[in-house]
Amino acid sequence: MRAWLIREHGGTDVLKFEEMPAPEPGPGEVRIKTISGALNHLDLWVRKGVPGHEFPLPLIPMSDVAGFVESLGPGVESLEKDQRVVLYPGVSCGHCPQCLAGDDPLCSKYGIRGESFNGGAASFVVVPEHEAVPLPDTIDWSTAGSFGLTFLTAYRMIFTRGQLQPGEWVLIHAAGSGVSSAAIQLAKLTGAKIITTAGSDEKIRRAKAFEIDHVINYKETDFAQEVRSITNGRGVDLIVDHIGADTYQGNIRSLAKGGRMVICGNTSGPIVECNLAVIFFKGLSVLGSTMGSRAEFLKCLDLVSRGLVGPVIDRKFAFDEMAEAHEYLENRRAFGKVVISIVDKS
Ligand code: ZN
Repeated sequence: MRAWLIREHGGTDVLKFEEMPAPEPGPGEVRIKTISGALNHLDLWVRKGVPGHEFPLPLIPMSDVAGFVESLGPGVESLEKDQRVVLYPGVSCGHCPQCLAGDDPLCSKYGIRGESFNGGAASFVVVPEHEAVPLPDTIDWSTAGSFGLTFLTAYRMIFTRGQLQPGEWVLIHAAGSGVSSAAIQLAKLTGAKIITTAGSDEKIRRAKAFEIDHVINYKETDFAQEVRSITNGRGVDLIVDHIGADTYQGNIRSLAKGGRMVICGNTSGPIVECNLAVIFFKGLSVLGSTMGSRAEFLKCLDLVSRGLVGPVIDRKFAFDEMAEAHEYLENRRAFGKVVISIVDKS
């Protein structure tokens, strides 16, 4: 089979398109013929490397992928050959207290496909049968292969961690990112009042297509000042953030008393100066969130299958254009998902 392999960290030249034997499904496993996948910022971190973090190289990247069940290992009962499936992008032990409580991402064995074990950038992927989730016919291949990680992450941030309520104000940073465009759609379902930020006229124009209340150009204005002005000095109840260092101080200024900030990433850096007095005096909650549970994944799949939410697909790249796709995402040119068409069916 053909697969993209990362043997060392670096620029897009470390992405190698190689020929290798297709993996064989063992007991309880299925082999998936991959059709469509998508990039996430995680793919860029995996390629570039993260100081202090060791990835299991060589590694096949890409967390999001969908395809057909091509062959069944011994004992598989829940899936059939040729069934369309999407892969849950994480793995956990399935029997610790956290897993049993539906908090899979808190499992000590939790890992992400394409980060802690081989991902979907290959013609075939072998997974345990419970990680291959049957795909409703209403979901096309591009959507199936691109909603997973972002909607899963956003769902947990908005609902499970953020507890967003109807009528509340929510600030969602960087509308052009995959997680944020998912978070905006999920927040809309609640009837919350939404403010988002974007860094260019083109991204502002596309953000306005979500028909949300306010879009702030964070490059031209002080977003915290704008947020306080929009909310008549009150501030927002919830902030969804993955920017990190560049937005932290403004976030603290933007929060109403009792407000919550949920963080799932730090694309601008992880280190901030934190004034504890503001946090306790305003009664703020700073919450971390990563990925989501299998149950949350099924909820996302249901919302996508009913057409209530869905990935914004910016651009599709062919399977052999992985390096170009990485560059496109890395240069912040994308608004929404960068899809990889592994087989041209979509
Ligand atoms: Zn567990």
